[in-house]
Amino acid sequence: FLININGNLMKGPEAQISVFDRGFLYGDSVYEATRTFDKKPFRLERHIDRLFLSAEKISLIPTYSKEVITSEVLKTVEASPYQNVTIRIVLTRGTNSDLGLDTELSGPNNLVIFTKEIKPNPAWWVTDGVSMIFYQKQIEASGSLPKTGNYQENILANREAHERAAYDAFLINTHGFVTEGTTSNAWIIKDGTLYTPPLADGVLDGLTRKTLIEMSKDGRLPLPLIEKSLTKKDFIDADECFITSTTRNIVPVTKIENHAVKNGRPGLQTLELLKLYLDFVK
Ligand code: PLP
Repeated sequence: FLININGNLMKGPEAQISVFDRGFLYGDSVYEATRTFDKKPFRLERHIDRLFLSAEKISLIPTYSKEVITSEVLKTVEASPYQNVTIRIVLTRGTNSDLGLDTELSGPNNLVIFTKEIKPNPAWWVTDGVSMIFYQKQIEASGSLPKTGNYQENILANREAHERAAYDAFLINTHGFVTEGTTSNAWIIKDGTLYTPPLADGVLDGLTRKTLIEMSKDGRLPLPLIEKSLTKKDFIDADECFITSTTRNIVPVTKIENHAVKNGRPGLQTLELLKLYLDFVK
């Protein structure tokens, strides 16, 4: 790890932050995750825009400008010895002067940028696909979600998936619709059409998801794409299923709960989309 804390570069073990930081005390922070392809950050501007949108949603007033965050990210990437790194940008409301929720207690933001060599995705993701469970969310959420330091439900969902020997969980909103994975967006293919849940169902506006939607609008996808509320049954009865995220691209899902997706093999159209996506973003 090479880490940048408020502009200072340091190696992983040396990187420390105050116990009064509000991100630590209350999860009072927003974050972003992207990567580089050969030293070039992927869609950095959009990730920083989304960081600021998340901040706005939790009334976190940035004391860093977009320009400064951008240059600190570039500085960290440049100093890293690796060509391909994951980049995590964490912006907390700041360090508190005392215990307490009152945001007036907070000093200026803390900005932490992590970079770490990115390893290629495990080969079995593409040869075998991953398995998912369903996880019922308790907290009512609608509209596009902010990416905050408070991922409690997603953590519990991921934990339950691992306890049940699955890769991850699809989150179900309080209206019974599938929304997304714990750190990914959710997709199915049925009868030659690609479907993904709409942001209104309580979904993070994933940039991989957005890229596929843009590719579709540009006529770059071989099948139509529809944003539509989807049930558990839609997922179980799908011809193909996959998840997307910036660091993992497109990962086929071949099992949901105890059901094989179709024949239990990664879908051919999914693998074709993965190829098209990688050609496009690289
Ligand atoms: N949904 C959630 C809850 C996430 O945390 C993430 C990314 O970490 C995604 C979806 C995928 O978003 P992106 O494609 O921008 O990585």
